[in-house]
Amino acid sequence: MVIDLPSPVRAAPAIKASAEIPLAGGAHGRFYSFDLHGAQAAHGHGHGNGPAPDHVAVRFPGPSVEPGGVPLVRIHSECLTGDVFASLRCDCGPQLQESVAMFGEQGGYLLYLRQEGRGIGLVAKLRAYQLQSEQGLDTFEANRALGYRDDHRDYGIAAQMLQALQVERVRLLTNNPDKAAGLERHGIEVDAVLPTRRHENPHNHRYLHAKRKQGHRL
Ligand SMILES: [Zn+2]
Repeated sequence: MVIDLPSPVRAAPAIKASAEIPLAGGAHGRFYSFDLHGAQAAHGHGHGNGPAPDHVAVRFPGPSVEPGGVPLVRIHSECLTGDVFASLRCDCGPQLQESVAMFGEQGGYLLYLRQEGRGIGLVAKLRAYQLQSEQGLDTFEANRALGYRDDHRDYGIAAQMLQALQVERVRLLTNNPDKAAGLERHGIEVDAVLPTRRHENPHNHRYLHAKRKQGHRL
């Protein structure tokens, strides 16, 4: 943890760079990176002094982001194994694809937070997988056995990204009630919470069961 000292002038979160990128499947997304304060350096991988991770937002054009609409938003935490390699141990990959497909049609913002393994980092996530395989622990028990809290994610980062994008109200696509509460704690109004589909397979069955026990609506 980094101690958050009060500073006389605190810059508002700002967009650092953006570019439009066409995606397979037909959607066009505008990718944004940000200058965020405090939280960005202190969180992310929860260890050491490496460079702050670049959190990314993708804005998809469509009715939900037009004036008068309340944008659809999904907060997705990075999962290298699921997002890039389509791991079947979790449901991150299909959830990401589902949101990109939905936002391609309806418009929306995907907030992609570099908080691998609920913020514990890739190395710890692999160790937790090992404990799950060897000792039969579930994902939350394994994280606790490694000395981590259940969830290291910081939704203040997501709220800052929305502020930089001048989004004050959202309709949130999630099965995790903590995400809506987390955004509201940081001053973002959540008009509606919309569930994602359930992406179950024989390999992630126990993982989804553990998430349900933690209050996820799956
Ligand atoms: Zn995953």
